[in-house]
Amino acid sequence: METTQSAAPPFQVLLYYLYTPIADPVAYRDAHRELCERLELRGRIIVGDEGINGTVSGTKENTDAYMAALLADPVTASIEFKIDPEEDHVFPKLSIKARSEIVTLGLPNEEDIDPRDTTGERLSPREFYEAMQEDNVVIIDGRNDYEADLGKFKDAICPDIGNFREFPDWLRNNAQDLEGKKILTYCTGGIRCEKLSGFLKTEGFEDVYQLDGGIVKYSKDPETRGRDFDGLCYVFDQRVGVEVNHTETRKVISHCRRCGIEEPNYCNCRWTGCNDQIFLCPSCKEQHGQFCSDECRTEKQKEDNL
Ligand SMILES: [Zn+2]
Ligand SMILES: [Zn+2]
Repeated sequence: METTQSAAPPFQVLLYYLYTPIADPVAYRDAHRELCERLELRGRIIVGDEGINGTVSGTKENTDAYMAALLADPVTASIEFKIDPEEDHVFPKLSIKARSEIVTLGLPNEEDIDPRDTTGERLSPREFYEAMQEDNVVIIDGRNDYEADLGKFKDAICPDIGNFREFPDWLRNNAQDLEGKKILTYCTGGIRCEKLSGFLKTEGFEDVYQLDGGIVKYSKDPETRGRDFDGLCYVFDQRVGVEVNHTETRKVISHCRRCGIEEPNYCNCRWTGCNDQIFLCPSCKEQHGQFCSDECRTEKQKEDNL
């Protein structure tokens, strides 16, 4: 009998974006939906006047066909894909939306950032790693607080925000800590930093750089291999967290909320009225149930007894 142990995983997860003018996002969305349905892809895609932003899962064959289709289309010919082999789909369904922006900083229309005009200088993973070692550098995590709680670059500043739209206010309130510094920004796949670093430039900061391809590319880069990224990278699919650091500097930064021991994985509080993402170790889960607090457990028990 043939062994399948060394076979490549049968599925792939793709992460991609491209800032590019799309003349009719609604028509584009409809045609794109047909393509994705034909290839039985699942995931989330946003199409806007300013481009496309997506993450999908599917069989290797179908995701390869999808990439070939986008690369053959002049509109998206310069798109770059980050590819993760997987055993199965990581999304429950397909969602494709047409919106005015593919990433929303929440600025008034006339102040919105077009990264094709204004953005921070892109650094390769190696250049970013080297820049992190310099003096007078400030590293800004361009993601939400719950993403950074799972994992982040070693010396990064992680803003206490739950939505990308809160960034302009945060940056304006913290501008004094950034003045005169070389500013490095990073996010999951790079798309948020395109606007974030552009915003910093419009605010008058000159020495602004962004990690090209984000944490995902930095993790896969043969030279950096995720060096000095602590914890896991938060992803918006069923995996929740993925490994980044493949070097001896790898470590866990998240802790069980009950007993405090290291716990690398998020779970959700089982009371549907809460559903918060929490860190709970296996033994606390077994002892107290998968709840963020005794209050949530009590609420769930009340529901079950109705
Ligand atoms: Zn515990
Ligand atoms: Zn709860």
